[in-house]
Amino acid sequence: MSVPHLTLARGDITKQSADAIVNAANSSLLGGGGVDGAIHRAGGPEILEACRALRASHYGRGLATGQAVATTAGRLPARWVIHTIGPVYSSTEDRSELLTACHTNSLAIADSLGAKTVAFPAISTGIFGWPLDNAARIAVAALRAATTDVEEVRFVLFNEAAYQAFEDAAQQ
Ligand code: ADP
Repeated sequence: MSVPHLTLARGDITKQSADAIVNAANSSLLGGGGVDGAIHRAGGPEILEACRALRASHYGRGLATGQAVATTAGRLPARWVIHTIGPVYSSTEDRSELLTACHTNSLAIADSLGAKTVAFPAISTGIFGWPLDNAARIAVAALRAATTDVEEVRFVLFNEAAYQAFEDAAQQ
C-alpha cells in the first residue's frame, strides 16, 4: 500500500489502455452526455446491460452522489469501468467532500478489483459545471491522500484548459 503515481494525458479516455477507467456517470446509471455517452458508445451495449442489472439488484433509486460501482468495460481497451456520480457544482454550498469521495471511492473499488492502472476524467467539470482549477485541486489532493495498491492514476484531459488545470494542481 502506498500513494499512487499521478500522471497526465491529453485525449479521449475511451482510447486509454488501463486496467480500469472511471466514468463521470449520473445517478440513474443509464448513460448520459459527455464522457458518459462516449464510454457507452465506444464500449458497446454490454456496459449498459451491466448497469441495468446493478440498478435492478442494488440501486433501484439510483446511485448516490460520491459513490462508485464497477462494471465490465465491454469493447473498451480496459477491463473495468468504474462509474461514479459527481456532485453538481454549487456556488452557495460547499460540495467538495462529495467530489473527494468520488475519487477515493473509485480508487477503493479499483483496489477491490486488483486494478493497478486507473484512468480518471475531470469529474464534474462538464455538464455538472465545476470550475476546472478547483476540481483539479480537489482531485489531485484526494488521490495524493490515498493509500492503495493502485500503482498509477492517470488523469485523461479532454481539452487544453483541463490539461493546464491538472498540470498546475499536480505541481503544487
Ligand atoms: P460531468 O457531468 O461530471 O460534468 P461531463 O462528461 O459533462 O461530466 O464532463 C466531465 C469532463 O469530461 C469534462 O472536462 C469533459 O470535457 C470531459 N470529457 C468529455 N468527453 C470525454 C472523453 N471522451 N474523454 C475524456 N474526457 C472527456
